[in-house]
Amino acid sequence: EPQTVSILGLGAMGTALAAALLDRGHAVTAWNRSPGRGEGLVERGAHRAGTVAEALDRSEVIVTCLLRYASIRATLDPVAEQLRGRTVIDLTTTTPDEARELGAWAAEHGIDYLNGAILATPPMIGGPGAQLFVSGASEVHERTRPVLETWAEIVYDGADPGAASLVDLAMLAAMYQMFAGLFHGAAMAASAGMPAADFAARAVPFVAAMVPAFARDAEIVDGGDYTVPGQQSLHFSDLSDIIRASDEAGANSSTIRAVQALIAEQVGLGFGDEGTARIFESLRRPEPVR
Ligand code: NDP
Repeated sequence: EPQTVSILGLGAMGTALAAALLDRGHAVTAWNRSPGRGEGLVERGAHRAGTVAEALDRSEVIVTCLLRYASIRATLDPVAEQLRGRTVIDLTTTTPDEARELGAWAAEHGIDYLNGAILATPPMIGGPGAQLFVSGASEVHERTRPVLETWAEIVYDGADPGAASLVDLAMLAAMYQMFAGLFHGAAMAASAGMPAADFAARAVPFVAAMVPAFARDAEIVDGGDYTVPGQQSLHFSDLSDIIRASDEAGANSSTIRAVQALIAEQVGLGFGDEGTARIFESLRRPEPVR
């Protein structure tokens, strides 16, 4: 059943969210802080609101897709009382604690709140491969599901509003560090004149074949026993050769040295014969002060 939705923030992502709703027959009201955005949406039948208050008046479900936490509060604080009894779905990238703070603010003002983290680029919204992690009260998630599903495949991460942001940012942490590793390898190979594209052609299938082993390491982490047979030991995982080769290539070795430091810490604690997955124990705590 089509719902009426107001989108606050018509950047690249907010515009894509609004367009997908229009495609599925929802009534859309669109607002943006500065003028000149969202013209195409109006042509396609969206109502343009001149003020946030007007946008709130027109819909039960309010979607924010702004820039940072401060911009959400700057936009919603002045209209908190008007939001009472309504639903806010925030799709702005926030940290878990920011989402929890917004959740507490919403509860204080009698606002139903759902936090969402988008795992897609704007052109992917409403198409295959787009994912949206959401967290907050399950009743709000279930009620807004017809709206959420116009954008992406939905994964509900539970009642803690911060949960969706946490998984999203954890996955991005993994992705950026993996890419940094690939760029470091390309920089080493480049010292001998290898184009990055040639390095990619060799490295991508190799890394793709290695990545699934993470699932087995994850089981060891969850089991908490790093002596399970069949693992590569921390001693065996000494990275000195790689670091020397990187230094010889004149490359910046900081990323690989960081990994070596994690391994060295666990070896130093006496766990050299245990599996390399044990670096998880160094990563789950803040880094030691050196
Ligand atoms: P854009 O830079 O294209 O748009 C930012 C929007 O935020 C604009 O509408 C801007 O309004 C508004 N804005 C910024 N500051 C304020 C403020 N203080 N008060 C009111 N409005 C403000 O960003 P995107 O649309 O790409 O991203 C929006 C959110 O979606 C971000 O949190 C981003 O992390 C997230 N996201 C984006 C993805 C992407 O691929 N683009 C992927 C996944 C998540 P104005 O026009 O007035 O400046």
